[in-house]
Amino acid sequence: MNEGAAQAGSMKHCSIHWFRKGLRLHDNPALLAAMRDSRQLYPIFILDPWFPKNMRVSVNRWRFLVESLRDLDESLKKLNSRLFVVRGRPMEVFPGLFKEWKVTRLTFEIDTEPYSRQRDAEVVRLAAEHGVEVIQKVSNTLYDTDRIIAENNDKVPLTYVRLQTLVAELGPPKRPVPAPTLENLKDCRTPCGDNHDAEYGIPTLEELGQDPTQAGPHLYPGGESEALGRLDLHMNRTAWVCNFQKPQTEPNSLSPSTTVLSPHLKFGCLSVRTFWWRLADVYQGQRKHSSPPVSLHGQLLWSELSRMEGTPVCLQVDWDDNPEHLRAWREGRTGYPFIDAIMTQLRTEGWIHHLARHAVACFLTRGDLWISWEEGQKVFEELLLDADWSLNAGNWQWLSASAFFHQFFRVYSPVAFGKKTDKDGEYIKKYLPFLRQFPAAYIYEPWKAPRSMQEQAGCVIGRDYPKPIVVHEVVSKRNVERMKAAYARRS
Ligand SMILES: Cc1cc2nc3c(=O)[nH]c(=O)nc-3n(C[C@H](O)[C@H](O)[C@H](O)COP(=O)(O)OP(=O)(O)OC[C@H]3O[C@@H](n4cnc5c(N)ncnc54)[C@H](O)[C@@H]3O)c2cc1C
Repeated sequence: MNEGAAQAGSMKHCSIHWFRKGLRLHDNPALLAAMRDSRQLYPIFILDPWFPKNMRVSVNRWRFLVESLRDLDESLKKLNSRLFVVRGRPMEVFPGLFKEWKVTRLTFEIDTEPYSRQRDAEVVRLAAEHGVEVIQKVSNTLYDTDRIIAENNDKVPLTYVRLQTLVAELGPPKRPVPAPTLENLKDCRTPCGDNHDAEYGIPTLEELGQDPTQAGPHLYPGGESEALGRLDLHMNRTAWVCNFQKPQTEPNSLSPSTTVLSPHLKFGCLSVRTFWWRLADVYQGQRKHSSPPVSLHGQLLWSELSRMEGTPVCLQVDWDDNPEHLRAWREGRTGYPFIDAIMTQLRTEGWIHHLARHAVACFLTRGDLWISWEEGQKVFEELLLDADWSLNAGNWQWLSASAFFHQFFRVYSPVAFGKKTDKDGEYIKKYLPFLRQFPAAYIYEPWKAPRSMQEQAGCVIGRDYPKPIVVHEVVSKRNVERMKAAYARRS
């Protein structure tokens, strides 16, 4: 059967809505399109083995995904529907589903990542072969990024200022569409067998090959309900939202100084347009509020820019191959407590502040260890709850001064930077409790404390905690020279 046949007379569609990111009901135009003129709706999520095979995913991020799926299923139940979690490669499972469920329409949110584009092109081809209509909608970015590129003479905008000019011409992003209600589904049902949970249930961490006891503290649960709750919480803080200036937020506060909505935006539990318009509502009627690039609206534009960035010619740098240093950085054993505390927070909790990301990314690459940003990108890809292919790659290129940002002579100090906002090192004491007894004067540089003081603090440097693996003052100077040489070779 095809679209023409389905629309003829009383015949209505049998639709699949394919959730991938976009794990939400609100602002989901593709889901609404699946419900329109349909007699049957199958909301599905495909557990695609490509992802665990091609990228490392921490147990914390698996947990976030499982919770997001569970929440979605609960919300669908309230609409008398269910989520079907299908196991297998999309290209292999779709033909069977099209036939078994007599599908006439497939809907999904457009995803611009390289693997997703390739996968979706293949699925669209398969759908055509089976006479299935495909509807794709833009809803994981503020604007249709193709439209922005078209406005920019078919070129990807490479700077924030350019993006600002383009969006000023386009006007504000589209308003989010409402979540479906029972009314949207009054003539449409989801056929569910008695064995639904056995066949299509939400996976457990064990099924995903994960050990739940290895997961960190449960600080940022996944799911649309959590996302909307967290958004409400922040949007009720009118003064905080209006005064928000990213550079003024602290990388080492004991509880996050920014929204931590990034994991929800990554999985699409929160629509970026909903976030944008809620901010607009808060700003409205206020005498004064911050503006891009430092405001929260400005943060969402950074995200939009990162999603569009093509890879410009990346600076070729003769990075060192040093597995031991890489491991020390990853495991929080560099001997620099500020760096090691950040990497510990990342490993255990899955989220770190933007400027903390700056500090450890600079340390790994052009600042201290002279290791390629691609190694850092892999570690972040595994450990971040919000790991997002484009945002991660773009930011790593930026921080390593390999693309977008070129002031390589501005190097973060692994000692002085953290002290600016936390002179007593409370953040270090939280994540590296074995350093807790060091006085403030030595907490950032414990190797400088007299041996007797180290013994009294119960942590001898070089025995209980490593000595610095490099001397920052020496390597950072040398590395600036190496960057200079790399830039000179390029020109
Ligand atoms: C090396 C490095 C790697 C990064 N990797 C990722 C990643 O994989 N995924 C990711 O979501 N962010 C990444 N970022 C960007 C940024 O650090 C996070 O988006 C931000 O810290 C998330 O915290 P938040 O939600 O509290 O941000 P808020 O300050 O509350 O900002 C709100 C939202 O704006 C967006 N945003 C904020 N800053 C940026 C930025 N610099 N670039 C793009 N979008 C931004 C995010 O969606 C964020 O949730 C990376 C930054 C660096 C330096």
